[in-house]
Amino acid sequence: MYLEKDVPCWYELSWDKTRRNLLIRVHKVIMKVGKGFFGNPLNGYKVTFPHFTEFEGKWDKPFWGFNRSFKRIGMRGDFIEFAAQIPQVRKFTGKFCACRGKKKFCIECDGSGKIKEIDDRRVYALSATFSQFFIAVGCEMKTSSKFPQLFTVESITGYGQGFGYGCAVSGLFC
Ligand SMILES: [Zn+2]
Repeated sequence: MYLEKDVPCWYELSWDKTRRNLLIRVHKVIMKVGKGFFGNPLNGYKVTFPHFTEFEGKWDKPFWGFNRSFKRIGMRGDFIEFAAQIPQVRKFTGKFCACRGKKKFCIECDGSGKIKEIDDRRVYALSATFSQFFIAVGCEMKTSSKFPQLFTVESITGYGQGFGYGCAVSGLFC
């Protein structure tokens, strides 16, 4: 869906090729008008979420989101800038595979010779942080930016039975 008008930018997403970080910028006007999360959005739920132990929802703190997923790196013009590292999901266990990396399609090691295990805690925390972030910045905000908002994003992060794995994403082209 397209909107036939230019809306000044209120948040941006980009990629820092050098540091291999996602960059998230949100216009400082969010400190006044944006919806914030001042407690853990998962508090009050009877299920426990082992991936999400802590949450920060204030924009002026060194971290934002679940488990310190967004790290504040400063201001860029009128935008608060955060960096998010893409977590490593498959980690070397220290054990080597019996195939010694000679089986290209080895189920144990994927042909690398190293046994790896999946640690998805940080990546789920990051995905859920983005879902909360897109809610927080979901409403158009009047800013002084000379650049237009190109599109908006929505996402939902699910885990476990009934949700399956992963994250669904949708958005709106402005
Ligand atoms: Zn192997």
